[in-house]
Amino acid sequence: MHQVTRRTVLAASLSATTLLRLPAKAAPPPTGRETPGVYRYRIGSFELTALYDGIWYRPITEKFIRNAPFADVEHALADAFMPADKLATPFTTLVVNTGQKLVLIDTGTGGQIAPSAGVLRANLVAAGIDPQAIDLIVISHFHPDHINGIKDKDNDLVFPNAEIMVADAEWAFWMDDANMNAAPSDLKLTFRNQRRIFSDIAPHVARFNHGAEVASGIETLAAPGHTPGHTVFAIHSGNQSLLVLGDTAQHPAVFARHPDWQAAFDIDGDAAVATRKALFDRAAADRMLVTGYHFPFPACGHLVKTAHGYEHVPVEWQPNL
Ligand SMILES: [Zn+2]
Repeated sequence: MHQVTRRTVLAASLSATTLLRLPAKAAPPPTGRETPGVYRYRIGSFELTALYDGIWYRPITEKFIRNAPFADVEHALADAFMPADKLATPFTTLVVNTGQKLVLIDTGTGGQIAPSAGVLRANLVAAGIDPQAIDLIVISHFHPDHINGIKDKDNDLVFPNAEIMVADAEWAFWMDDANMNAAPSDLKLTFRNQRRIFSDIAPHVARFNHGAEVASGIETLAAPGHTPGHTVFAIHSGNQSLLVLGDTAQHPAVFARHPDWQAAFDIDGDAAVATRKALFDRAAADRMLVTGYHFPFPACGHLVKTAHGYEHVPVEWQPNL
């Protein structure tokens, strides 16, 4: 019997390498395209798909943080490797397959916020998810980057078979014309955009009260401040859970590190900070998995309490479910 030794294996592999070595070719041209932004994970028996919609570099001024000197804000942006006067604002939506329903949490920008965002549709295709198969859309709050993806630029529904559910408190605040009329002019644009999205489909938009489940295993929590009816979703299956934080904090490299900061777009800054700290404390103490709409893709990970705030630790990419 021929005995295979380390030396014969080595010799064989060396000669194979020599035989297979081909003359060098010119480098292929760059593709010029990004790869799909899709990340799949499990919570108990639920299958979750994080779908990237892109990123917006929001220009900011000294008015952006109400309760901190602009020099401190510029410092924080530099520490987060962001441009000097722009906040990195990535967008990640989430599809939850509960086994009974396909649920989409927030709908992306609909390509109507920045040229560098609006790739949700392409990523749905890459993930093998047909927009017609979405049964239910739930909305964390009514800012345009969360609701604009309900419709395309021609005002047609992107997910034609989906029921839409929103928090009653969010609907009550934004759909009140007295609130719109009393709002400063830039906020009036937000009110008008909500009417563009919701007015003609209002009879088909169902409302939930915080504490209710929108689907079996998806619980709603009141998380007021960023907006009055801002909603966090707690997903439970088996003995696992996930907090879907929405806009409890924007980019964690700025707002988890500086949880006291009140951004100009928070309707009630004090409440936004109190909500952020309560939820982050709970997530850190219970070592809960969390996802944030404006966290870097795939947007899920853990929060660790530090001396002055929190640090976000991203998940490790799992090649197997
Ligand atoms: Zn947002």
